Amino acid sequence: MRSFPAAPLALTALMLGAGCRPAAPSRSSSAERPNVLLVTIDTLRADHVGCYGYKQASTPTIDALAGRGVRFETAVAHAPLTGPSHASILTGQIPLGHGFRNNSGFTLSPKVKTAAEAFRLAGYRTAAFVSGFPLDRRFGFDRGFDTYDDHLPRGNDPRRTPYVERFADATTDAALRWLPGASGASAAPWFMWVHYYDPHAPYEPPADLAARYRESPYDGEIAFVDRQLARLLQAVDARGDTPRTVILVTADHGESLGEHGEGTHGVFLYDATIRVPWVMSGPQIPTGGRVSPTLARSIDVLPTLADYAGLPRPADVDGRSLRPAADGREMADAPSYAESLYPELELGWAPLYSWRVGRLKFIKAPRPELYDLASDASETNNRAEIDHARAHEMERTLDDTLRRLPPPVAAQPVDPEAAERLRALGYVSGSGGSRPAGEPQRDPKDGIRLLPHLNRGMSAARTEPDVAIQELTAVLKDDPGLLMARRTRAVAYAAAGKHELAIADLRTLDRNGQLTPEDAVVLGDNLRAAGRLQEAALILERAARENPSFVQPLISLADVRIQERKDDEAAALCDRVLTLAPDHIEALRHLGDLALLKGDLESAGARYGRILELDAGDVPALTKLGVVRVRSGRPDLGTQLFRQAIERDPKNADALLYLAGALASSGHPSDALPYFERALGAGPPSTILLNGLGLTRRAVGDTAGAAAAFRQSLRLDPNQPDIARTLSELR
Ligand SMILES: [Zn+2]
Repeated sequence: MRSFPAAPLALTALMLGAGCRPAAPSRSSSAERPNVLLVTIDTLRADHVGCYGYKQASTPTIDALAGRGVRFETAVAHAPLTGPSHASILTGQIPLGHGFRNNSGFTLSPKVKTAAEAFRLAGYRTAAFVSGFPLDRRFGFDRGFDTYDDHLPRGNDPRRTPYVERFADATTDAALRWLPGASGASAAPWFMWVHYYDPHAPYEPPADLAARYRESPYDGEIAFVDRQLARLLQAVDARGDTPRTVILVTADHGESLGEHGEGTHGVFLYDATIRVPWVMSGPQIPTGGRVSPTLARSIDVLPTLADYAGLPRPADVDGRSLRPAADGREMADAPSYAESLYPELELGWAPLYSWRVGRLKFIKAPRPELYDLASDASETNNRAEIDHARAHEMERTLDDTLRRLPPPVAAQPVDPEAAERLRALGYVSGSGGSRPAGEPQRDPKDGIRLLPHLNRGMSAARTEPDVAIQELTAVLKDDPGLLMARRTRAVAYAAAGKHELAIADLRTLDRNGQLTPEDAVVLGDNLRAAGRLQEAALILERAARENPSFVQPLISLADVRIQERKDDEAAALCDRVLTLAPDHIEALRHLGDLALLKGDLESAGARYGRILELDAGDVPALTKLGVVRVRSGRPDLGTQLFRQAIERDPKNADALLYLAGALASSGHPSDALPYFERALGAGPPSTILLNGLGLTRRAVGDTAGAAAAFRQSLRLDPNQPDIARTLSELR
């Protein structure tokens, strides 16, 4: 059973298209079945890959895979968004079928069967290594995987939100750690999904590629992923697994790169974001680099892989196996559906739906569009008025598809997760979001000019909050219903320390029923920062209750309890997080900090040590473990850890200060001095830092410098009689 009961039959018939006869599944036992490696590269548009004709590309690994296997010239996604598109890849259903329709506010319904479940059922070992927050396990993508590795490092770049991305080298490392245990001649076959996120904005490839692709850093990110893919495939090869591994590389969506006024992706349904690569190779896949002209769709991935693995055709899928096309047999194109609800759910504009048949694409929008893709690949010549009859006919087919799915009803028992979905689907069915009833929705083509301002606001929200507030306020003046602008302005207000203004924006969202669980966390954090601890606890408890699998409200609630000096309650909350998400790094960090406060050095050391096992570059954990070592009587180990932390993040004020303090107190004041100076340059001064600097300057004989540091410290806090006395003794 799926979530939308009346749909499957009609929709399946429609989506299967004509001219295909699925191959009968072979009756091989699981030991004879091939391994399956599915690689999805986020945000990779097909025409930036070498084998798709891009001259500047550095994608030798993908190109070689296509050269020894099969490539589909035209492959398309069903949504320009990570979550919905991956849901289609992993379930073989269009978004209307699997119901995961936007990155936020949806989870994959347990009623929808996934590729991992199908492979596990057939005796496969299953593992996934994902690199972006939209695929976090709380969205349900982990179902069916024995191993689901979604550990995203904290990162040390203050311009980036922590825990949203893992770079391709680290993801490959994780996959390579798993592989040996899963391989071997006698072992069961494996199904591994590796997801790379690097080509997603911001485009910041490693130094050598940044230099080489100065003009197009997006291509540098793609080159980096290709290198890491090479490592992954080499490891498979080194184990002798290549001859028995089906490898399929595709993407969830492309990137607009400015086409149609869109910088990234998510709003429009043009081929810049909908067309993706699809290359595959492996046993039973013809060698020699065939290029198939048959349209390949994301919903065809699962049935195709199942076919090669000899699994029965999964029930309820909308797609079809492309094996006949790969074999060179004639296979007529099936129609393809795509949608983006993002404009409606996040921006308050009209949603977009598209229907592609052969060379034609129709886009349903307030001002509809029709393109002849064969003669107008860049989709700049809208033929909807010239070819009115054709546009009308395609719109009717599309409307039929949309109508085949009955509106969700709330009569069934509703768990909080489903409630969240129904609430979100409520926007879809036209409850209007924040727009007054009856007012027509803005065509995304008209709203898109606001997005550069919105994007600037979003990227500056944490680092240059004043710039962000200015941009976002201008956007909201033009379009007060633009929810993302209001959400992001709240984050910028928070970063600027204007907590009451942040609270006002979020309360507005809450009043309109538009507060997402993520918003609730931001609201709770701001209430806490404003000292309104009881209100903070209320909103966070509500968010935790309504979203039992979402751990962030519990972490933020732990922060409230710590501020209330209820350390035991805070620790209990973090323990609860660990039962929901084992090895949750912030929960481990809180538990480490709480243990350190209590002087339980052993427990604190264990927590920080575990964090570093998961993410060796976690600078706060390196620093705190250093503190534990110093306090355990091992200043040598402590300074070593502080130095490691500074190497990774040369401006980390805590690590600099602790190293300075450790050197000064172990009788090395002249070694300590430069670190005090650097700590002073790395962040706002504190009395601890200034007093340490003063004492150290005094120790090396710099009386005037010492006096200056003490005077600055006393300006911050005049109530320091010891420092005042030390200062007077200097003269
Ligand atoms: Zn994506």
